[in-house]
Amino acid sequence: MSQNPNRSDFLQAWIPRGLLELQAQHRVPACTLEGLTPVQIQWCEGVLEDLRPLDADQSPPEHVVLPRLVDAHVHLDKAFTWQDHPNLLGTYEEALKANLVEHQSRSTELVLIRGERALQQAFMQGLRAVRSHIDSGGPGAASSWDALELLQRRWQDRVELQLVALAPLPFWTSAEAESMARRLAKCRGLLGGVLDPSMVGPAVDQSLKALLELADRHGLAVDLHIDEADHAPAQGVKQLLRALTITPVEVPITCSHASSLALLPQAALQRLGERMIRANLQVVALPLTNAWLLERRSDITPLQRPQAPIRQLQRSGVRVAVAGDNVADPWFPAGDFDPLSLMAAAIPLTQLLPWQRLGLAPFTTAAAGVLGLSWDGVLRRGAPADLVAVKGTSWSDVLRGSSSRRVLVQGQWLSSTFPTK
Ligand SMILES: [Zn+2]
Repeated sequence: MSQNPNRSDFLQAWIPRGLLELQAQHRVPACTLEGLTPVQIQWCEGVLEDLRPLDADQSPPEHVVLPRLVDAHVHLDKAFTWQDHPNLLGTYEEALKANLVEHQSRSTELVLIRGERALQQAFMQGLRAVRSHIDSGGPGAASSWDALELLQRRWQDRVELQLVALAPLPFWTSAEAESMARRLAKCRGLLGGVLDPSMVGPAVDQSLKALLELADRHGLAVDLHIDEADHAPAQGVKQLLRALTITPVEVPITCSHASSLALLPQAALQRLGERMIRANLQVVALPLTNAWLLERRSDITPLQRPQAPIRQLQRSGVRVAVAGDNVADPWFPAGDFDPLSLMAAAIPLTQLLPWQRLGLAPFTTAAAGVLGLSWDGVLRRGAPADLVAVKGTSWSDVLRGSSSRRVLVQGQWLSSTFPTK
């Protein structure tokens, strides 16, 4: 950090209109065709003190500013394992196989090294909160949890780290489930699992019931990998909705992936969206891993690859975040916990327009909402002085990744600028 935290400081910048809330005395400002508004932002003691629109006769700002960002779905326990456990066929099945082999050799020390590296990159590149799923159940589970709970405490003032117990669904009916739930309650963790098209029948219903009862009893939120598939449209979400009619819960439930929902006919998807809203479900779309793994065949380039139908779900009122998922592990060889790279990679896949409110929300306010963060990411008086400033004057400058970037944390600039690659 590079300056006295008590010092008042300011920056003139272009701010997306949808992330700006001005006080009533300010006139409604003009914005560019890309929805960017020229504003002077002033902060003191780590808090935004004043935001005022710049007059037309003032010189235009040279930075675009976003709030520090959020990645609602990552896997810190297996990040950077690609080198030792590559998945050269690029299939879902081979990824799982390599993941299970890697899990056998986990140690607390190894997960600490990976997690520390990941959080350092996340922090420096502008993330303020991260939700990580952790492989739970199996030989590497205990060491993974020991490491990530330690990292959660070590990083608490810089990056909020939420931890999800990603366990096979039958785990939640086992004798160990109760002690895991107690452990989760202590670290404000979440219950997780995988619901894929192979999982049908009464045993799965029983596991879901046990998971929901446990979540409700301990007040734990739920985040499931669900319908990460290119067939059996929405089978998992429908199963979950049925389970919720039998075992209704008060806690928030996140559906991660929800890819096969895109295969539903439009009217059926709309009906499903309405049911999801009534059940208070929210969605995390993971377009990069979906585009990499789904519909893969060895000898063809697929014409379509399902991913969460973001726009249709938004139209039904479902909150949808876009997140990064895997980084350099058997499930995906690329990624690096960079929220702006994620946005740049996701827009051609999702066709979201970041200069529209609903195009930007999945990367900003909706991601904060999914995680239940105290700050929604809107820049207003009294909000944290937590900013990502990119040199430039347009969305293109933000998305091309070639402009220098600075990150402001609690009113202090981090000393490095990005990119440094
Ligand atoms: Zn995942």
